[in-house]
Amino acid sequence: MKEIILVKNGELVLKGLNRNTFEDILIKNMRKALKEIGEFSFTKSQSTIMIEPVDENVDMDECTEILSKVFGIAALSRAVVAEKDFEDIKKKTLEYLGERLGEVETFKVNAKRSDKKFPMKSPEICREIGGLILSKFNSLKVDVHNPELTVTVEIRDRYAFIHGDSIKGAGGMPVSTSGRGAVLISGGIDSPVAAYMMAKRGIELVSVHFASPPFTTELAEQKVMDLLHRVAKYSGPITTYVVHFTEIQEEIRKRCPEQYFTIIMRRYMMKIAEVLAKKQRCSALITGESVGQVASQTMYALGCTDAATTLPVFRPCIGMDKEEIIRISRKIDTFETSILPYEDCCTVFTPKHPKTRPNLEEIIEAEKSLDSEALIERAVKNVRKTVVH
Ligand code: ATP
Ligand code: MG
Repeated sequence: MKEIILVKNGELVLKGLNRNTFEDILIKNMRKALKEIGEFSFTKSQSTIMIEPVDENVDMDECTEILSKVFGIAALSRAVVAEKDFEDIKKKTLEYLGERLGEVETFKVNAKRSDKKFPMKSPEICREIGGLILSKFNSLKVDVHNPELTVTVEIRDRYAFIHGDSIKGAGGMPVSTSGRGAVLISGGIDSPVAAYMMAKRGIELVSVHFASPPFTTELAEQKVMDLLHRVAKYSGPITTYVVHFTEIQEEIRKRCPEQYFTIIMRRYMMKIAEVLAKKQRCSALITGESVGQVASQTMYALGCTDAATTLPVFRPCIGMDKEEIIRISRKIDTFETSILPYEDCCTVFTPKHPKTRPNLEEIIEAEKSLDSEALIERAVKNVRKTVVH
């Protein structure tokens, strides 16, 4: 029996945006995501994309699992293909859904006839298939309101498709329909969640991580790569820069007031990230900040951080509680990695009394004691670039 997957597009019907372009990008993303497990053909029809494995032996469970993480998909249905012949439809319905029908107590049949030339109308198809199922499974009952299983028969242009319940897709918009953004990624809980949330809005990700060897270790960096790898299952490959930040941190510690240490450090992160982001044609920076979470994330401190860059800074976690952020991090499977106890460069030098209401003029004045241009230039020159899949 030939199994295929029917993909229902998500939010592709945005006003003014070209639906065709969106669908093409979605197909490109799906093809890329599935590349490792085999070759597939994609056919668009109405608001559905049909995905057909070219090779018979493809693992369809794996295929479904991969597609369930691709943004721009509202729902997925695994389906079997039948000839547009009612005998074949009946036969395939029982063959394909027999096992599942044996497990449930209630069902209903749903028919969609997009080929109006097909001789039977939808209610008739429902009645006939429903009757057939009831005759084979004695204890089954029809429940049109709240069935345990909905059997769907779709009569399309060339074939009929039969499927059971669909699976919820990842939602959002196809990655790279909304441009590019650079996420400042730490080893913490929040920034991988922020990255995931912006990728969900169709933004292609680049990432920047600041490391402070020898204060931060190889293991801490590996942890960040592992987090990015998990995010990449949703976002696609992430071009990543690792910046050596130790020199800048030491300079700040030596020359600036202690109470401003964190905020000045955050501003340098923004400045360096901006240079790298622009190299990659990114139009925004992304962080995992949330109002009030720590001293450097008061509204006033965030204002000072913002002022360090001309790019817009997207902070999708801004109004979320830690609980809510953790819920998403568990869903995307980054939580367990995020809580591994390695040092982050932000925790290396933490002032005892950070200012929660910092004054931007004072900060800019304090930064004058640093040779900013040279420091930033050196940091940017020494980055390591990799692509995380
Ligand atoms: P997270 O859980 O994402 O680490 P956090 O609550 O620990 O966030 P901070 O450590 O203050 O908060 O960092 C705030 C944001 O700054 C992070 O969400 C991230 O976007 C960025 N950031 C922090 N440390 C780094 C780093 N080492 N490299 C790149 N970005 C960083
Ligand atoms: Mg952190």
